[in-house]
Amino acid sequence: MAYYAGVDIGGTKIAVGIGTETGEILGEGRLVTEEFKDGSKGLDAIAAEIEKICHQLGLNMNSLSRIGVGSPGPLDGGKLLKTANLPTWEGLDLSAGLQLRTGRAVAVENDATAAAIGEWIFGAGKGLKHFVYVTVSTGVGSGIVVNGARYAGIQGNAGEIGHLVMKPEGRLCRCGRRGCLETLASGTAIQRSAMEQAEASPYLKALATVDAQAVFAGALKGDATCQSIMQEAAQYLGLGLSYLVNLFNPQAIILGGGVIVNQPEWLDMVIPFVADYSMADLFHPVHIALAQLGADSGLQGALATAVTSQIV
Ligand SMILES: [Zn+2]
Repeated sequence: MAYYAGVDIGGTKIAVGIGTETGEILGEGRLVTEEFKDGSKGLDAIAAEIEKICHQLGLNMNSLSRIGVGSPGPLDGGKLLKTANLPTWEGLDLSAGLQLRTGRAVAVENDATAAAIGEWIFGAGKGLKHFVYVTVSTGVGSGIVVNGARYAGIQGNAGEIGHLVMKPEGRLCRCGRRGCLETLASGTAIQRSAMEQAEASPYLKALATVDAQAVFAGALKGDATCQSIMQEAAQYLGLGLSYLVNLFNPQAIILGGGVIVNQPEWLDMVIPFVADYSMADLFHPVHIALAQLGADSGLQGALATAVTSQIV
């Protein structure tokens, strides 16, 4: 039996797990990201956590075939560039640093690519050769599989669909540009539109907390403001997805992330826009599917990155 470690680095938590090539997680642990302002201390803690879980399972570090890491981007290979989620980790070499501390080979992918690999190996993308995984949560991102291999570009950053500028005079994005898809169709964008338009909607005005789920619930109840907010976000997401259809001619688009997973019915608003904006012959074969890996997708993606890193 081959064993692999997966490390899912997020702005809030770092999940570490040991598992098998079939995606079974045998043991896992969690670290709180903000306790490690110093990235090298973070890597020390990750390596110690891997060792601890190995020990609990009766394994040692040498039993691990590889370590896979899913990290917020942008990356330059295995190295972090300036990352909004981990500002003090800028310049940290995740790949060399973890390899040094564990003695194991380390493969690093940006988190959306890792999640795409997770769906490809363990989830809704099994057996597919051409698909794009898109996550819609607080942000929007994607990971690409073409010709039966993951496509990550020269630095590992391919698939930054959330920062395609779709409305040049639009809202300021956290990346510094205006009108990125993420400012139009993410959970954050829906929430922001709802706060801006709350005066027009007794439903929104009465809510204690406004999030994408509440806005979608309002739309289902017939609130016109909520309906128009969800419709506008659906239009822009559909436009973004149509670019993927025309660029990659994929078999499938697999959709994950909280905003999709918590209200999959929203796709009924999104899909007609994808159809309208894509070339018809290219839209026809595209299977639009929901991601299957759910809450554990980050760790599964990191594990899948470890499992596949020699064959991709
Ligand atoms: Zn942006």
